[in-house]
Amino acid sequence: MKFALVTGGSRGIGRAVCVKLAGMGYHIIINYKSNEAEAIQTLALVRERGADGELLQFDVSDRGDIKQKLGDWIEKNPDKTIEVLINNAGIREDALLVFMKDEQWDNVLKINLDGFFFVTRLLIGDMLVKKFGRIINIVSLSGLKGLPGQTNYSAAKAGVIGATKALAQEVGRKGVTVNAVAPGFIKTDMTEGLDEKELKNMIPVKRFGTPEEVAHAVGFLVAPEAGYITGEVISVNGGLYS
Ligand code: NAP
Repeated sequence: MKFALVTGGSRGIGRAVCVKLAGMGYHIIINYKSNEAEAIQTLALVRERGADGELLQFDVSDRGDIKQKLGDWIEKNPDKTIEVLINNAGIREDALLVFMKDEQWDNVLKINLDGFFFVTRLLIGDMLVKKFGRIINIVSLSGLKGLPGQTNYSAAKAGVIGATKALAQEVGRKGVTVNAVAPGFIKTDMTEGLDEKELKNMIPVKRFGTPEEVAHAVGFLVAPEAGYITGEVISVNGGLYS
């Protein structure tokens, strides 16, 4: 059985990625922070795809929590390797820098950037031993272009893009690829308060994207045939920025 871990798999893009990978035959470990009911819903959708999965609650910004819960899973499953890791969990807390509070900076950096480090460090050793792995980091247009009101979020996502490129060079010879997918405006809870009618005018494709469209890019990078693509950032943004 092939195992994939999707952080923030309970909702939005993470849920669509879980369903996509289920369709590719993976057993899905669905991580979430607090929304168990939504995570259970994701598991039901995974099962509808004919695959199976399980829930694994932990906070990606808390290294102790990760070590305990994900570390425990690894210890209890010595014969199983998580060969696909999707670092998807993320938040935004927007404010102009001049008004930004310490907590807004810290929270966004911890969850989006530190989370990538804590989870990846725990899983990559096994991938290197097995000489196969796929790590895909969900970043953002904001980390490529920079968006006003998001200095914290742009910094965190740009940080993950740098780490993606560096790590890809560290582990390429061991059959592990590391890539990023950078969505633009995607219809999820994260973009719920935004004015789609207004914003779509500046998007060449003239609409927000769907979580499934992001999941498609993730599936492409996970496929065995994508083994020669590493250190890349694929934008899924309707032509908004390239
Ligand atoms: P979403 O609908 O708000 O879902 C966020 C997910 O992350 C939930 O599953 C949530 O779990 C989980 N999460 C949040 N904090 C966590 C933590 N500390 N530990 C573990 N899980 C945590 O967001 P989304 O729109 O799907 O975004 C997914 C990713 O895409 C994020 O990295 C985001 O930055 C990126 N992105 C989104 C867009 C967009 O337009 N939507 C654009 C560019 C990039 P709970 O359900 O338990 O809260």
